[in-house]
Amino acid sequence: MTQILIVEDERLINELIRMSLCGAGYGCTCVYDGDAAVEALDRQAFDLVLLDVMLPGVDGFSLMEYIRPLDIPVIFLTARASVQDRVYGLKLGADDYLVKPFEVAELLARVESVLRRWHKTERFLSCCGLSIDTLSHTVLRGETPINLTAKEYALLLLFVQNRNIALDRDRIYERVWGPGERGDSRTVDLHVQRLRHKAGLEGKLVTVYRVGYRLEE
Ligand code: CA
Repeated sequence: MTQILIVEDERLINELIRMSLCGAGYGCTCVYDGDAAVEALDRQAFDLVLLDVMLPGVDGFSLMEYIRPLDIPVIFLTARASVQDRVYGLKLGADDYLVKPFEVAELLARVESVLRRWHKTERFLSCCGLSIDTLSHTVLRGETPINLTAKEYALLLLFVQNRNIALDRDRIYERVWGPGERGDSRTVDLHVQRLRHKAGLEGKLVTVYRVGYRLEE
């Protein structure tokens, strides 16, 4: 089931979106602020994020910086219809923009269109005995599902898409945790260790002395 994260602080609108999307057969998770969105994204893999711009605490534009490296499509929701906001949101990498109030039919059409566009990318990847479904974010070794967090999944995808290339820690950090963050090599090391163990990549996801890591196939 396609999983959608709804980040919207206005409870009534959040609930209306949830009802519309659930009715159309999507799985929904509702959160009401930026911190809860980050928690949800760390806990679970999503296929799409509906992201309100004006949120208490961390706003939608700042959250976009966090979401972009996770490789999940985003549709901004906003009451502000100004051209500048629209352009800024799309520049940040949003896939679409929905101005409130919107019709349920329009919401569903945009969601469907963005998901269809993303399906066009190669859905299944295989590497080192792993099968990755980039649509559902599921990873299998043989028939056995491997449970990865969103960051571990992003890390695996980065290595698989750059197999046999040494990636330095700063680049890994930027791609998985986002630009603007200060590179934390300890965080990268911990996540690589966990991914290596969980995905059975011992001897394949190798340490490159003084650089970072390389996935060998
Ligand atoms: Ca709002």
